[in-house]
Amino acid sequence: MHPKFERTLVIIKPDGVQRSLIGEIIGRFEKLGLKMVAAKMCVPTAEHVEKHYTLDPEWRRITGEKRVKAAKEKGEKLATEDPFEITAKILEVLIKYMTSGPVVAMVWQGAHATELVRKIVGGTEPRSSDVGTIRGDYVLDSYVMADTDSRAIRNLVHASGTAKESEAEIKHWFKDDEVLDYKLVQESILYDVNLDGIFE
Ligand code: UDP
Ligand code: MG
Repeated sequence: MHPKFERTLVIIKPDGVQRSLIGEIIGRFEKLGLKMVAAKMCVPTAEHVEKHYTLDPEWRRITGEKRVKAAKEKGEKLATEDPFEITAKILEVLIKYMTSGPVVAMVWQGAHATELVRKIVGGTEPRSSDVGTIRGDYVLDSYVMADTDSRAIRNLVHASGTAKESEAEIKHWFKDDEVLDYKLVQESILYDVNLDGIFE
């Protein structure tokens, strides 16, 4: 398969919608050259959110370990260092966060879609995510604040982490016929072998 057919899932989380950042976030992906091939606004159920985060059986371990590593780097003390205990708590607050209001779920298509969307979205914690990324530029939340207030980190967007995660997550949020196959005029400039047909 040509790389231009790669697809990935993005969700504008409830805080992104409430901050009126839908247009800004969509604009970032559009400007990169990606194509939106599916979109819906909905309030997800707790079951849907739990399933979404646990589609990858490794998510609990990986996310717990990531949290321990971040705490070590900052010299923070965690109540437990057991990755599964940590993710049990994260999942609880995450469900509360993700079901607190409307979200916008989308599928974006284009070369290296998963990797490039993650690059634009930035790291999990807005406090330490890079300048120029969505999470780095538009919000100021941190592990410390979220943990102090026993809530999820508000970081505006979800983006699939790997190509495999993208595939499973797209299936979880959209029926096959809700994801559209169509051409964008700009794709000939992005992908065609020869830049033909520019001159009159
Ligand atoms: N999260 C949190 N506390 C943590 C780790 C994660 O509230 O200590 C939330 C945060 O909103 C994050 C989501 O859980 O976006 C999923 O975690 P993951 O590690 O998969 O981060 P992501 O892939 O979204 O960067
Ligand atoms: Mg993730």
